[in-house]
Amino acid sequence: MPDPGDAAPARRRIAYVLPVYNEQDNIAVFHDALTEATAARDDLDFEFVYVDDGSRDSSLERLLELRTADPRVTVLSLSRNFGHQLAVTAGLDLVAEDGTADAVIVMDTDLQDPPRVSIEMVGLWETGVDVVYGQRRSRKDSVFKRSTAYVFYWALDRLASIEIPRNVGDFRLMDARVVAEVSRYREHGRFLRGIVAHVGFRQEALLFDRDERYAGETGYPLRKMLSFAANGILGFSTAPLRMISRLGIAISLLSVLLALYVLYVRIFEPDQTVPGWAFLGVGMFLLGGLQLIMMGVIGSYLGRVYIEAQDRPLYSLSLVARDGGPPHPRRH
Ligand code: UDP
Ligand code: MG
Repeated sequence: MPDPGDAAPARRRIAYVLPVYNEQDNIAVFHDALTEATAARDDLDFEFVYVDDGSRDSSLERLLELRTADPRVTVLSLSRNFGHQLAVTAGLDLVAEDGTADAVIVMDTDLQDPPRVSIEMVGLWETGVDVVYGQRRSRKDSVFKRSTAYVFYWALDRLASIEIPRNVGDFRLMDARVVAEVSRYREHGRFLRGIVAHVGFRQEALLFDRDERYAGETGYPLRKMLSFAANGILGFSTAPLRMISRLGIAISLLSVLLALYVLYVRIFEPDQTVPGWAFLGVGMFLLGGLQLIMMGVIGSYLGRVYIEAQDRPLYSLSLVARDGGPPHPRRH
């Protein structure tokens, strides 16, 4: 071992974690843009970890092709579509296990997150910031996507026990020690941006303009968006459970007032009758509905407990291609 004192400072290494789901027409353009942006920092080493999330198009073949021209490309392939959050997790796990990267950048592969912004993130990281998250100054998503996102983050802000920044996706740079912490969180219903906020360290925003998707279509249809939102709220808040008891107390108080009213009429105005079955009917359905909704709230938490208790692996890899070697099936 040479004396660390007179050795040239080791080159710092940045790993990109890049989830891919049906992005066949984006991959080449994206990789070119990324190579161009990273070329500005030839004092750093880069690794590009593409995670194919069970794509049904020729994304995987395109990714493997990239490796022939660029040995810095690593390709992981999940055995089926596990979803964006788990695809990113698989990439982060590889980097955390390997331990050679000094920082990791997570970004989408549809060119919505501009590669040159990731290099700005590196600049901030070098000043000592542990997490640089991309905050959208503007975004070109549909009105529907923007308004649902707004409502969701408003609710999350009010409910969650930790502060999760608004207008922030998963586009971010994390120092290696943050990645090590994040990969200790093994929950199944994953909400990575919440986990990153939860681990702490020094976090700062970098404003950027989010572009339109270059080609293909979103891999986040309404169904996935809803389950993602549920993971955010259920994973970081037990406020809905407390709301049940509050609602119960409110309804009970109301019924006491109602009872007093009935008693009053009965004693002091014997000629007047208290309105009957219509009121009872409506009240019954209202309470029945409320009770079912509240059971649903409890059920959602219970469902998460069940999933966690099963403790299944988060994802399965079907292929790993790294270090210039040929792709090989994953050994465990
Ligand atoms: N993605 C993924 N698995 C999925 C859906 C999406 O790995 O099941 C990837 C996708 O290839 C992209 C990123 O996650 O790189 C963000 O997805 P998308 O652009 O479809 O979401 P949006 O930008 O519309 O929210
Ligand atoms: Mg996108």
